[in-house]
Amino acid sequence: MLDRTELREIASMEGGYFVSLYLNVDPMFNPKGDYMVHFKNMMKNTVDSLDRAVYKAVKDDLEKVDNYVISNKRIFRKGLALISSTAKSFWKEYNINVPVKNELIVDKTPYTKPLMDILDNYQRYAVLLVDKESARIFAVHLGEIVEYGEVHTPAVPGKHKKGGWFALSQNHYERHIDFHIGMHLKDVVEKVDSFLSGEYIGRLIIGGSDEAVSMVKGMLHKTVLDKVIGTARVEMFAKSDEVLRRVEPIVSAYEKKKEEETVESLIAKALKNENAVLGLDDVISALQEQRVMKLVFVKDYKANGYNCSTCGYLSVQKIDSCPFCKGKMDAVDYMVDLAGQKAVQQSALIEVVSESKKLLDAGGIGAFLRF
Ligand SMILES: [Zn+2]
Repeated sequence: MLDRTELREIASMEGGYFVSLYLNVDPMFNPKGDYMVHFKNMMKNTVDSLDRAVYKAVKDDLEKVDNYVISNKRIFRKGLALISSTAKSFWKEYNINVPVKNELIVDKTPYTKPLMDILDNYQRYAVLLVDKESARIFAVHLGEIVEYGEVHTPAVPGKHKKGGWFALSQNHYERHIDFHIGMHLKDVVEKVDSFLSGEYIGRLIIGGSDEAVSMVKGMLHKTVLDKVIGTARVEMFAKSDEVLRRVEPIVSAYEKKKEEETVESLIAKALKNENAVLGLDDVISALQEQRVMKLVFVKDYKANGYNCSTCGYLSVQKIDSCPFCKGKMDAVDYMVDLAGQKAVQQSALIEVVSESKKLLDAGGIGAFLRF
């Protein structure tokens, strides 16, 4: 999983050369598995353009990268990022759940900006599991979960009051909170607070018994409480996969709501002509003019069109030769995939909406524009 602290450390490395590869391997945007072609072209162009001395310095890195791409296709997700420096004995691979713009960069520092951008642009969630003497903190991002740390405040034998572990009474609940549990929760709240702000995580899910969840919620600062998007009953010692399974419905419901808001805002802006367009025709023109900031389309939306076999120019209308390079225009039935590929290549964000009658009625596809 991407981690801000780790990326900062990588970004600050120097000395010797680094090879950084970013490859859009998203099957949706590689209808014919064409990422291998793009990869080979990038490799060739890079090798051709490098100074001899630099090439010598990174020859092993380029080979490593090449081997990795060829032999790991099975584990590819949507985006691949590799950073290699044999001089520093450094190698890092990321198989990410979002497509990335194709880039191969040889430089004296590692190129991490696209990864930082993913952290900024795709919501991450923290999960807090809590009970009376322990707590665990996880981060969930793009379908993955990682455990970040735990808080353990063991009970002192014989010091427990009877009754529920918070021994809540309606009237004097503060006095009746077990002192030890109070200390523990205070510690937990502080750790969560610093985790959320240190990692810039904007949403929190709390898991545990009803009693534990409501108690910890009562102690959170308003700013943290505003980040809570749901609570779940999860066993304290659940494995990470199980925790992910339990919180996934909360994440999906939240993301579904966000998708609906995106569609509403897209349609409203497009109707007012405020840096947004709807429909394949206008989207394609905007892509051709490099104006797309975020491409939005319904998952099952398909469209036919024409694609220049030489320069990749797209057209919804039938034309025989490309207006730019006079290349031959091929009829294709995967225009949306090609539009997506173009958008990724322009560093635009992509939002695939699982279902939306509203967006389908409005053309199935649209885009927020940079200008
Ligand atoms: Zn062309």
